[in-house]
Amino acid sequence: MDEYSIPEAADLSVLIHRSRRARRLTLRVSSVDGRAKVTAPDFISEAHINAFILKNESWLREKLGAVPTLIDVTIGTRIQIEGQEYLLSSHSKRAVCLSDELLLVPERSSLPNRSVLAYLKELCRDRVTYWADLYTKKRGTQYTKVTLRDTRSRWGSCTDRGGLMFSWRLIMAPPAVLQYVVAHEVAHLEEMNHSKAFWSITKGLYGEYSKERDWLRKNGASLHRFRF
Ligand SMILES: [Zn+2]
Repeated sequence: MDEYSIPEAADLSVLIHRSRRARRLTLRVSSVDGRAKVTAPDFISEAHINAFILKNESWLREKLGAVPTLIDVTIGTRIQIEGQEYLLSSHSKRAVCLSDELLLVPERSSLPNRSVLAYLKELCRDRVTYWADLYTKKRGTQYTKVTLRDTRSRWGSCTDRGGLMFSWRLIMAPPAVLQYVVAHEVAHLEEMNHSKAFWSITKGLYGEYSKERDWLRKNGASLHRFRF
């Protein structure tokens, strides 16, 4: 795959992916890393690709503007935890803790980002386990274990062996969003599909969930901005 820039709009760079299987030109902007990519059939000329990109230039600019830039987590970074914003700072104590609007990491920590990551994962496990225990008790079901991962395509999943998986980035979202995702996965312990029965269990556990789903659709990608 080569990097490609448009002569008439030098600040835009687009990856060109030549594909033998592609039948037509497609242009996409990844919501994860913000890269623009054209997939082009082998037989299409470079001039043709260029014209195609220029034709879509305003769409592309709008899309690229909408993609949040990556943030390297370090002292001074503002980060959301359970929907609240905190400023990452250091203190002389040994533990990571929250105080008013500050997220404090030990000043002797050489990698504050790793300290924050460990803290977020622990907090996420705590919250997820709380709701998973409560919801399974309510339904008379059981899960085998909770696994936290950094997944790109899904916020949670449920295996046929009763294992629940969640993205630890959910701890940055408002608490209701995490709570809804847990209810959703607990409902999958009984219904491994998205049938009417499944949604009625989810609703029974969590209540009306459309706001939380919308939040994830609109803001989910912003949780992936942070690099730890
Ligand atoms: Zn599902």
